[in-house]
Amino acid sequence: MMTAHRETTRRLDLGGVRIGGGAPVSVQSMTNTNTADTEATLEQIRRLKMAGCDIVRVAVPDKAAAAALPEIVAGAGLPVVADIHFDYRLALDALDAGCAGLRINPGNIGAVDRVKVVAREAERKGAVIRVGVNAGSLESAVLENGKATATAMVRSAERHVALLEDAGFESIKVSLKASDRQRTIDANRMWAASHDLPLHLGLTEAGTLLTGATRSAAVLGELLGEGIGDTLRISLCADPVQEVFAGIELLRVMGLRKTGIRVIACPTCGRCADRFDVASLAGEIESKLAVIETTKSMTVAVMGCAVNGPGEARDADLGVAGGRSKALLFKRGEKIGAIEEGRVVETVLAEIEEMLFK
Ligand code: SF4
Repeated sequence: MMTAHRETTRRLDLGGVRIGGGAPVSVQSMTNTNTADTEATLEQIRRLKMAGCDIVRVAVPDKAAAAALPEIVAGAGLPVVADIHFDYRLALDALDAGCAGLRINPGNIGAVDRVKVVAREAERKGAVIRVGVNAGSLESAVLENGKATATAMVRSAERHVALLEDAGFESIKVSLKASDRQRTIDANRMWAASHDLPLHLGLTEAGTLLTGATRSAAVLGELLGEGIGDTLRISLCADPVQEVFAGIELLRVMGLRKTGIRVIACPTCGRCADRFDVASLAGEIESKLAVIETTKSMTVAVMGCAVNGPGEARDADLGVAGGRSKALLFKRGEKIGAIEEGRVVETVLAEIEEMLFK
């Protein structure tokens, strides 16, 4: 029986972002700059924040990266999680720097007394620790006949969690990631059936922009639909800002995030070829609207022609339906005029601003 629907998982606070216990599912990403390059890392974090990222993770492989953390945390504007392997001193540096969370596997950072030191310090600082299990790097003791099965992944998480709990630490979330659908789904279902610690969802090595987003959506969507998952990351071999866009869109499709501006566009066909460039207009409108923060929910439709276009455009809060070098503009179901193709983007942005802020 499912016991840990996201409404009933343990509630955590990660630097002001609520996780679990019915909190909205949050979207995470990870920087791919050299963390020690403070300027480049902060610049990327600002772009992630503008795109709607809730929590950012940075790799902390060495002392130089750890030394950059105080400035990164101070300038980030959103909670920073330090990703640490093996060296417990880097975990202590990250906590000192004000990181809201750590992603570590306690079993990898040495003797139990070191785990205790990190746990005690994380407790004192109010930080969250994520136990991040990847199928590709399980300890041999948990393998089933030498295989990294879903059960082995869950066992590994349990062992790491037990180390923290034995040290009296409870602000723990867990991730169970594999690069394939079945193991990821099975491991997360198994975990949710018997533990109340919140789950962070993701696939490892998901792929490039299109393949990675599609694979992640298929797997994470299934879990989210079952009530499993409190935070997520769509891991992509691409600009991490795309991870945020993909994560937010997945939550919207699943009905788990209702705010923001959704852009829909027709797939185009021979009716608009050489007449109205839907793809580039929709792309430009989407990227410009994606960074607008709003608690309202809106739909903007960009349609190619007068066959299906006006109907969809009319149903949206704002819509354009293309014609020969011109477009009809619809606002809340009413046709409000015709505009030159060259003025579509600026007109849509101006109308949206007026609808949102005036
Ligand atoms: S809205 Fe018009 S141009 Fe776009 S796909 Fe439909 S028929 Fe084709």
